[in-house]
Amino acid sequence: MDPGNARTRLVLLGTSGGPPYWPGEYRAGIASAVVVGDRYYLVDAGHGVVRQIREAELSPRSNTDMDGPLDTLAGIFLTHLHSDHIVDLNNILTVGLFNGFHHVERIPIWGPGNRGAVPELFGPGKAPKPVNPRNPTPGTKEMLDLMVQTYATDFNDRLFDNRKPAPDQLWEAFDVPVPKQYTKDPNGNPHPAMEPFTFFEDDRIRVSATLVDHAPVFPALAYRFDTDDGSVVFSGDTGPSKNLIKLAQGADVLVHEVIDKSWPESLFPEPRTEAQEGLYRHLIEAHTLIEDVGGIAQQAGVNTLVLSHFAPGNRPDEVWEGAAAGFDGRLVIGHDLDVIGIG
Ligand SMILES: [Zn+2]
Repeated sequence: MDPGNARTRLVLLGTSGGPPYWPGEYRAGIASAVVVGDRYYLVDAGHGVVRQIREAELSPRSNTDMDGPLDTLAGIFLTHLHSDHIVDLNNILTVGLFNGFHHVERIPIWGPGNRGAVPELFGPGKAPKPVNPRNPTPGTKEMLDLMVQTYATDFNDRLFDNRKPAPDQLWEAFDVPVPKQYTKDPNGNPHPAMEPFTFFEDDRIRVSATLVDHAPVFPALAYRFDTDDGSVVFSGDTGPSKNLIKLAQGADVLVHEVIDKSWPESLFPEPRTEAQEGLYRHLIEAHTLIEDVGGIAQQAGVNTLVLSHFAPGNRPDEVWEGAAAGFDGRLVIGHDLDVIGIG
């Protein structure tokens, strides 16, 4: 069957890791959609996400009239609050006023809560003064409130002049409720071992989460979507994570991030000083190497491993083929607008 006809399907909207634009890059910023029937759920909102939603024709009205493509959006799930995962969220919210939000029921927007403390200073020296010291690490709910404040001039113009609905009629933001015993130490590394927990359910999807290892980012989350047709798991940004393997057990599809270590190696060529070795390790430990990702998919027992969030975003496919090592299932080297049927 053409995966585009599957009732439940994964659509890769953008597949680049960030935060920079890579020279010669051909991938949009990280974002994916889980489509279930006539609705879709977004995971992350990297650069270009609205254009990619249109290109993917996620709504029947994507390119025919002004009521699409955001008229069939049913939820947004942010894995963590690094800019490459959220930078175009504001675009969805503001464009949505004109391209479909009057058709939606209040969209839930989920993501990690407040970190609770700035990261420890990496390396020697005196710690800098944090940005916004009164609230240096807002979580998802606070961030959405702050975004509405940031765009208040525009939202009020649309409310009073264009007679559009107010933001609180269109979406509601929530912090994913990671059990408190696991969030006491935001600077602990690795994350504590935990069981996945379910935090969202509607008539089409059930969403579970677990903490993953993207230090010093905390909380960084992986998500599992269970549907009547099958399941798809998103690693978010992480080094190899036992919690993720647990979350992904027996899933149909695992969408996993990946890093080509030749990039950090080029930043810190050998021989490295102790300090350079530290920086190099720091970079690769927050992500998963090509040579490790196949084994993770194998341990999780998934049918299909889909690579996404490529770091860097400008390498040819051959570079990523090594991810097949140690995995008996199907490997998909993801590209923007790829569609993978579920079930
Ligand atoms: Zn990222």
